[in-house]
Amino acid sequence: MSFTPGIFAGSKMYNNLIVRRLMKTLANYDLSGRNTFRMKVRCALYVEIEAEEELPALDFSALPQPVMVMGGGSNLLFTKDFPGTVLHYGVSTALDQVQGSFGPGAISGAGPGPSSVPLNALEATVGGLGPKGKNTPRPECGWTWSTEGYSVLVTIAAGTVFDDFCAWAASEGLWGPENLSLIPGECGASAVQNIGAYGVEAKDIIADIRAWDRREGRFVYIDPANCAYGYRTSKFKTEWKGRFIITAVTYRLSRTPQPRLDYGGLRKALNLKGLDLVHGKSGLGAISGGGPGPGSVPQNTPGAIVGGPGPGDKKTPRPESGWTWSKEVESLTPKIIRQTIIDIRNAKLPDPAVTGSAGSFFCNPVISKEHFERIVAMAKAENGPDYSVPHFEVGDQIKVPAAWMIEQCGFKGKRLGGAQVYQNQPLVIVNASGEATPEEIIGLETQIIRTIESKYGITLHPEVEHV
Ligand SMILES: Cc1cc2nc3c(=O)[nH]c(=O)nc-3n(C[C@H](O)[C@H](O)[C@H](O)COP(=O)(O)OP(=O)(O)OC[C@H]3O[C@@H](n4cnc5c(N)ncnc54)[C@H](O)[C@@H]3O)c2cc1C
Repeated sequence: MSFTPGIFAGSKMYNNLIVRRLMKTLANYDLSGRNTFRMKVRCALYVEIEAEEELPALDFSALPQPVMVMGGGSNLLFTKDFPGTVLHYGVSTALDQVQGSFGPGAISGAGPGPSSVPLNALEATVGGLGPKGKNTPRPECGWTWSTEGYSVLVTIAAGTVFDDFCAWAASEGLWGPENLSLIPGECGASAVQNIGAYGVEAKDIIADIRAWDRREGRFVYIDPANCAYGYRTSKFKTEWKGRFIITAVTYRLSRTPQPRLDYGGLRKALNLKGLDLVHGKSGLGAISGGGPGPGSVPQNTPGAIVGGPGPGDKKTPRPESGWTWSKEVESLTPKIIRQTIIDIRNAKLPDPAVTGSAGSFFCNPVISKEHFERIVAMAKAENGPDYSVPHFEVGDQIKVPAAWMIEQCGFKGKRLGGAQVYQNQPLVIVNASGEATPEEIIGLETQIIRTIESKYGITLHPEVEHV
């Protein structure tokens, strides 16, 4: 999300807030271009942070209250004008400056990055230019690089568009975020929301978080193990709400293949692209020839074993012993997975550049097995004895897709004024007219919640944050 520099460098009203630097502040700011739902609302003051050192210099108590931090505004529903300050951390990493820097080498120097960076990993870019060229690590810019590790730690400024980071990682052949491709928003929010898609969550790749602690008035590094990450949630959304302004996220990427293909039709879509992947667990193995499949293929192993003694020598497939290997699979790359996910998402989800929404409006509820059995009985009575209700086991409980319930209740495509349940994915409410009001979105939300409560005895909770 790009920010158009305002005409003020400190508005008249709030000049006294700006201590050392000229920070961009805009009074009575129109937020309609800053939230993907396109709600036409204003905030009393908008502050764009353009350098990390502006944070210690900012007198938060002098700002119109309350103060909220926003990223790309893609998980927010503004329900009315915001009476306080909306602050955006606008520092982003120049990813084009960090290409081609992941070869072997030795650690030299230490940047300002996370204390937890292991010696044999690479760290890149905190605010600085980042590594350009293998032989010239520049600790003064906040990055160092190293030898043997298979992990690559990359520190990305919080204001960087998350999908730009995904595209960069894929183009560098680095594994980790490819399944999260095309999720709107910024890197800072990825650590707040624990964004997730296609079997991967941000917590799987977050190694460290740097933030300004408003309570203590200092920069801190936060270990993700302390963030209580769960399904689209973290302490940043609960007990730490409003306390930290995330300025950088360090992601742990991998130089060795780590494809995760078993969710959301990804494997099938790759198959349709001509990649000869078999069902089973997501190894890299593929089979051309018969056999029970590569359940036993260790992850990250190109080629697959079927029945026989297996590919001790990859170059000599031995169909007579029951195994062959596939060249296509060796060429499975994060780039291919990224593009496949982009294709799937584009077919299902509204493009925020065209249609306003905040993605999935509701969280998928998790219920007891007994409760689920009652729903199954109801669904079979309505749709016939062979009908099966989509679900996922989560420990000893069951997650039921909210989209399924919304569709069963007849809401798919339903409109209320300018708001509409998206035809291709009923979990999404869209601003169909482009002029929908917060009241219309909330009206549709309320109808859905009430109907599902009365039919299934389940209360849906919004994933979208109401402001
Ligand atoms: C079409 C569409 C598809 C989507 N698909 C997915 C999906 O597949 N998976 C998924 O998980 N989400 C999805 N989303 C939701 C959304 O993209 C994510 O929640 C995203 O992480 C929000 O990022 P943002 O930068 O827009 O954050 P915002 O919406 O601006 O803010 C989200 C929260 O993060 C906080 N925050 C933001 N930046 C910072 C910071 N620097 N420091 C501290 N707090 C901060 C805000 O205060 C707020 O609480 C989708 C949204 C849309 C519109």
